[in-house]
Amino acid sequence: MRKPLVAGNWKMNGSSTSAKTLLDGILTQAESFSSADVALFPPAVYLRQVQEALTNSDIRWGAQNLSQFKHGAYTGEISAPMLNDFGCKYVLIGHSERRCLYAEIGLDQLVLDYIIAEKYSMATQEGITPIICIGESPEEHADGKTEEVIARLLDIVIDQNGVKALSQAVLAYEPVWAIGTGKSATPEWAQEVHSFMRERIKKHDPETAESIQILYGGSVKGDNAAPLFSMPDIDGGLIGGASLDANEFVQICMAAV
Ligand code: PEP
Repeated sequence: MRKPLVAGNWKMNGSSTSAKTLLDGILTQAESFSSADVALFPPAVYLRQVQEALTNSDIRWGAQNLSQFKHGAYTGEISAPMLNDFGCKYVLIGHSERRCLYAEIGLDQLVLDYIIAEKYSMATQEGITPIICIGESPEEHADGKTEEVIARLLDIVIDQNGVKALSQAVLAYEPVWAIGTGKSATPEWAQEVHSFMRERIKKHDPETAESIQILYGGSVKGDNAAPLFSMPDIDGGLIGGASLDANEFVQICMAAV
């Protein structure tokens, strides 16, 4: 039986004052979702504040990105050992906003996918659980290429790290057309893609396929979370915009229990 996970990605939003209000609002209602795993992903500069606020709670936290390198001349990057200094349990890898907005010019898709697989490997080596985000663009969706896109990235991660490495990871299906658009995938569509992901892993290792948490992300709100989370292969959500409002985020967490 997989435990649901709800992850709140704050993206580049907030201030230390608004972070305090949000954390207080979530913590005062934490008992209402105690049977789900919940994790918050603040901007890196607020990790210490989040760590201090959540240390004595069951809520975990993580970073929105990490470098594939351990240390060195990589200005502006943050390494896995640094994230460990801040008690991060998780790290998001391959979020579509990183892929689309920060893909180095000149890198082709395959090279980019390999960098993501290297970040994944770095996180697991350092004991941080990667939440690897995979999803098709609006164009790929319109062209019926969803499964092709999902299969490509999953296969690279498995080929490079071995399928057993997935047992230390979380997957998130995040269709790019649903992120921040207010247009969530239907529960049936998301279930079909999640089931495809699980079946693909099953070909390598049925045990890992059965145990891995697969989250759905893309315009999940308080009022559409429950039908999505009730699908058999959807194990919770990666929440962007709605994680910035304590009451709405708590409503989503409650839909996962
Ligand atoms: C996200 O940032 O991963 C996300 C799913 O955003 P939103 O919930 O705002 O669509």
